[in-house]
Amino acid sequence: MNSAQATLDLISFFAETIKRIFEAIAGLGKTHDPRSLEAYVLAQCKALGAVILERGLALRGQSLAVPMSQPCPCGHRQHHKGKRPREVRSTLGPVTLEERHYYHCDHCKAGSYWGEELRGSTDFSPLAEDQIAWMGKEGAFDQAAKNLKHLGLFEVAASTVRDICNRLGKAVRERIEHQAAQQHCSVVKPEEKVKRLGISIDGVMLGRVDPKHRERKGKKKGKYAARRRSNTSSMKSKPWSCLSSTKPGNVATNVSCHAGAH
Ligand SMILES: [Zn+2]
Repeated sequence: MNSAQATLDLISFFAETIKRIFEAIAGLGKTHDPRSLEAYVLAQCKALGAVILERGLALRGQSLAVPMSQPCPCGHRQHHKGKRPREVRSTLGPVTLEERHYYHCDHCKAGSYWGEELRGSTDFSPLAEDQIAWMGKEGAFDQAAKNLKHLGLFEVAASTVRDICNRLGKAVRERIEHQAAQQHCSVVKPEEKVKRLGISIDGVMLGRVDPKHRERKGKKKGKYAARRRSNTSSMKSKPWSCLSSTKPGNVATNVSCHAGAH
């Protein structure tokens, strides 16, 4: 990758950008206020970054050996059909992917691309998609689009925010499910897959307990069982505890207390 030659090619563009920034700074208080000046400098720096990124990606693609064919999921091979440049919207601005190559399978008609790492699942870069999805993660897509514009990040429609959120959400769900399947079972037959795991409680908010567990608990012996018996007997021997209790839920306790006192 001949970055030295690329730097020489871009020097005139660098110089022009710096000249524009100095002219804007000179106009502070006249043509620019502090906010507009900072926004202008930020925009110039982003434009410079976009040009460097675009040129660097092109140089990288030219320095790599482009394969003449790629394996296809159908078992045959996809063959190189030439370049298909495409523009993506990055956080720095529009960037054209010049060294983007198209492959096509003559057997199943499937196609794929090589050299489009900077393109996410839409026409935005992966980082741009992350920022848009983060802004729209609460579901208020219209407000998210307004916030993105207010912060100077992107001018997008609410439907674009929704589309990106849906795509990224689906990809995250599929990745989590795949990782869970890899961890817990190497091979799972479709009929063995658990559709849903649910935990329920009964209508009075008491957890359901296996009746046999109650029996086992009742027969439990040892220091904890002895302590439980001791607490119950001490309550029965204290009539004042019955008088202080007025809640309906303690009626049974009151009855046993009176019975103990008589
Ligand atoms: Zn194929």
